[in-house]
Amino acid sequence: MTALRDHLDRNLIGGKLVGSSSSSTFETVNPATEEVLGVAADGVPADMDTAIGAARRAFDENTTNWTTDAAFRARCLRQLRDAMQSHSDELRELTIAEVGAPRFLTTLAQLDSPVEDLGYAADLAESYDGWLIDLGAATPAGVPSHRWVLREPAGVVGAITPWNFPHQINLAKVGPALAAGCTVVLKPAPDTPWAAAALAHLAATETEIPTGVLNVVNSSDHSLGAMLAADPRVDLVSFTGSTATGRKVMASAAETLKRVFLELGGKSAFIILDDADVASAAALAAFTACTHAGQGCAITTRLVVPRHLHDEVVEATAATMAALGAGDPSDPGTICGPVISARQRDRIESYLRLAVEEGGTFATGGGRPPGRDRGFFIEPTLITGLDNGARVAQEEIFGPVLTVICHDGDDDAVRIANDSPYGLSGAVHSADPTRAWSVARRIRTGTMSINGGVWYGGDVPFGGYKASGIGREMGITGFEEYLETKAVATPPGPEFQPAQENA
Ligand code: NAD
Repeated sequence: MTALRDHLDRNLIGGKLVGSSSSSTFETVNPATEEVLGVAADGVPADMDTAIGAARRAFDENTTNWTTDAAFRARCLRQLRDAMQSHSDELRELTIAEVGAPRFLTTLAQLDSPVEDLGYAADLAESYDGWLIDLGAATPAGVPSHRWVLREPAGVVGAITPWNFPHQINLAKVGPALAAGCTVVLKPAPDTPWAAAALAHLAATETEIPTGVLNVVNSSDHSLGAMLAADPRVDLVSFTGSTATGRKVMASAAETLKRVFLELGGKSAFIILDDADVASAAALAAFTACTHAGQGCAITTRLVVPRHLHDEVVEATAATMAALGAGDPSDPGTICGPVISARQRDRIESYLRLAVEEGGTFATGGGRPPGRDRGFFIEPTLITGLDNGARVAQEEIFGPVLTVICHDGDDDAVRIANDSPYGLSGAVHSADPTRAWSVARRIRTGTMSINGGVWYGGDVPFGGYKASGIGREMGITGFEEYLETKAVATPPGPEFQPAQENA
């Protein structure tokens, strides 16, 4: 078995692992060391055009029964899962090196969990009971009729993904879209091309996924994403990334009126109620904000605390954040690794300067960790002294930065949590689960954790309210994003029963 990393300079287009048609490549860099790891194919518009054409043909011609044979699709998805699992040691090291993902997280959402969830997608393709629903007889407009509702694959999916959890987000789109019977063109983020190149290589060499069904086009050129969103041959665009880019994707897709599915940014609140166990809540808030250097859209980045408990919470949270520090992601004990690039580090540092300009102070952190002259590191930082109107409390920073905001009771905590353009996630801590539940119900977000409960999983729908997105990824809801709905009526009568296609 040759090393995967020797094969990561290829795109997957029309069933072939190919370099860019311009022969160009671009570098992928280790954010913890700034070393160049190697190169990826630098796809150009002609490559994207060929990939979309291949996906369209695979869907329309359906010579392999891909769109109609759920058992075949499930088998292919299990093959992909098995292939990724059999290469998990190498994929783990590549993920740590390319993404800067802390090692502990690769056993969870950075690698092992989304790979395992390909099995969930495969099971769903086979067990889904909504492919054909019999609505029975009726007499609409005086015409005796029998009505059925069919669910069908939506068509060609353009999947556009970011760099922060590349395996998770690539697979959370590719898995359900393929399970549903769609064909896919994946356009990954230029900061982490190898995660997608590994997926492409394994899909091409270790699965029966037919020619054109899965295409992967790495490129340093963001405009290939816009091209995918605008192309009339694409039926649905599934995007994860920043809210600003999400707006552009929606605009690009508008001309051809395709379906748009958006997973965007967040600024979620971690609420501590006045009866909560402060020590454990503060420790969890600190841990969450530091995880993967805060580069998670659903990470809670506003710590909303009872005013009279402010000092106690700040002291405990700051102590945990300082103890966690920022370190080498390959170390199993590291929670907070580097941020992805110098550009992201600069952006975070501009927010740290802004916090000071807005009147905030740092209870811990506030800059680069001393003694690290290589790598894109930021110290875990706790900002105090601001209210929820501050820009650092309203805007997504995407670094290990947590802002403390005081509340004056449950209603005020709910008001503050909801006073955000975003609505992706949140957390609430209370000694009284009923009280915590009632607060959780009033927060307008797609996910909520109560007293440390973890909502993440392949069977759990994930997504946002408000500027955090449109639609849900994962779970049955996420699978159904990739389906179209068709109603069919026939004259009533026992002589006709449709075949259970796809089931
Ligand atoms: P980004 O928006 O800059 O880029 C995301 C992807 O869009 C990349 O593949 C990029 O090449 C592509 N792209 C850029 N311009 C485009 C355009 N005009 N049209 C089409 N595609 C285009 O995001 P990022 O910096 O890679 O990732 C960080 C952001 O992603 C954060 O805001 C974070 O909150 C968000 N995010 C959201 C979720 C979620 O599920 N809600 C998950 C992870 C990350």
